[in-house]
Amino acid sequence: MRPGPILPFRSTLAGNGLSLERKNSDTLQINVGFLCNQTCNHCHLSAGPDRTEVMDPKTMSEVVVYAERGRFPVVDITGGAPELNPWIDVLIEGLAALPCKILFRSNLSALSSRTGERIFDLLKRHRVAIVASFPSLNEQQTDSQRGRGVFQASLMAIKKLNEAGYGLEGSEYELDLVSNPAGAFLPPDQGQAEKRFREILQKKWSLSFHNLFTFANAPLGRFRRWLRESGNLDPYLQRLASAFNPCAVAGVMCRSLVSVSWEGYLYDCDFNLAADLPMGGRRVHVSEAQRPPLPGTPIATAEHCYTCTAGAGFT
Ligand code: SF4
Repeated sequence: MRPGPILPFRSTLAGNGLSLERKNSDTLQINVGFLCNQTCNHCHLSAGPDRTEVMDPKTMSEVVVYAERGRFPVVDITGGAPELNPWIDVLIEGLAALPCKILFRSNLSALSSRTGERIFDLLKRHRVAIVASFPSLNEQQTDSQRGRGVFQASLMAIKKLNEAGYGLEGSEYELDLVSNPAGAFLPPDQGQAEKRFREILQKKWSLSFHNLFTFANAPLGRFRRWLRESGNLDPYLQRLASAFNPCAVAGVMCRSLVSVSWEGYLYDCDFNLAADLPMGGRRVHVSEAQRPPLPGTPIATAEHCYTCTAGAGFT
């Protein structure tokens, strides 16, 4: 039997006596473009080597000015593979002059490429925290999800990060890993997965990291196309909606995060950016924004929001 349509996310919230509004915005997430060295099946942005959209230095300067004006305590650089943006060092240097913590999302294989090596010292010099995708402990599964040779390249990158002091117990150089499921299912329990990854990475390859986060994949971009083509779209949406956890709503990232696109427009989160649902319902450029959105501002929602409230949630 075909699964029926799911309720609009907002109706599910209302049915649980909830609504989705902002609290204080403490994180500025900067998407520096869709260029990536990988073409992962689960990518909600359809990033890849053929994408040409990358943030330019002028927009980067405007983003840095907004980060300062908005006094964001945390900035989170993401992509695509941010390493491949030719001006990424301009952005990192600009942000490093502000009193904020910088996170840098890496797919690991880009960090071990020649362009990645170019900024490795810069990341370390500014104590930038690395949040790296490492989907699976299985080489075959990783390579089929992300491309041939990616598993070994990822291990090499973690080794290099550990040698530089990242991810070691007690080290101030943070290295966290992120694992996504390889198909149309929900991630395993985060605590158990972290224990398993820690034991196996240490035992087999003597590698360390600080925390592991497990996230569900958002039904957008390339992943949505794959879901549709494989006949999994409706069952996956149903699975996400059935796993709705009202307690997860308080912690969803859009309540405290502002996302900036490679062109400099503002969104409530990276998923809304992928779906082109701008913050406040109209495209506002970072150069026009005077401050972060105020607490109580409503957030644009759609069916992909069920990704963030399934099970333990996506924060
Ligand atoms: S998809 Fe974005 S807007 Fe929707 S709940 Fe998740 S973080 Fe919030």
